[in-house]
Amino acid sequence: MEVKVLEAEGNSVRFILSQSSPAFANALRRIMISEVPCMAIEDVFFYENTSTLDDETIAHRLGLIPLTTDLDSYVLPEECECKSEMGCSRCRATATLEVEALDGRKTVYSGDLKFDDPHIRPVSDKIPIIKLEVNQKLKFEAYAKLGTGKKHAKWQPVAVAAYKYMPNIRINLKKCDACRVCVDACPKNILQVEKDVIVVVDPVSCTLCYECVKACPQDPSAVDVSWDDTTLIFNLESVGGLSAKQVLFKATEILKKKAEEVTKKLAVKGGKQT
Ligand SMILES: [Zn+2]
Repeated sequence: MEVKVLEAEGNSVRFILSQSSPAFANALRRIMISEVPCMAIEDVFFYENTSTLDDETIAHRLGLIPLTTDLDSYVLPEECECKSEMGCSRCRATATLEVEALDGRKTVYSGDLKFDDPHIRPVSDKIPIIKLEVNQKLKFEAYAKLGTGKKHAKWQPVAVAAYKYMPNIRINLKKCDACRVCVDACPKNILQVEKDVIVVVDPVSCTLCYECVKACPQDPSAVDVSWDDTTLIFNLESVGGLSAKQVLFKATEILKKKAEEVTKKLAVKGGKQT
């Protein structure tokens, strides 16, 4: 297996996985979506809420705010030694909020949440939670915990985790007269004319839409588009709580642990049989 990184910037990573298979890429994709843990608000205790929204609706909105995640300092509540429903400092971070609209209508933003741990905070301070009318007040305490997308989508650390097959575009030079029709038909501009010959300049951007094949005046078409399912172009974008690289590394770690577990269990079974 080979990996070639095309782009790696904070919240997004794009790489080519070659000599691999869709099954392996899909295993990684599914783990990123549903098994890599991240932080989200889980419990909210309201002390005062005179707003127009009920407690449950506000709690739901709070749960969907992406939070920065520190995977080294926190453990999943079900794996924590405290075994407490409310959690402890190893399995939860506490946020408080107290806002009253005294001088007119006021919007409460994610940035108004005050966390007890400086490593945990909203990814953006500009996410609106609620609008308060004059004299309305909101006061609560909320617990953020680690969780996985398997349990609730609010714990899904990625906005995009997808792969596509490597496109394979061939021009039949015996039939092609470089009429440029396919060049103009391509919505991704990946075909060009160089010295009266059609060349593929950026096959990675191809979306396999077949517009070039359909546009070619030759019958059958002088352009042939297929794909290589052993080479996959992976696109990953995190919601900001973890960087895309952290999500990728954690997903490979989880996949490795699963593979080791299978090997161990098979070895035990094999041992019993012999
Ligand atoms: Zn705990």
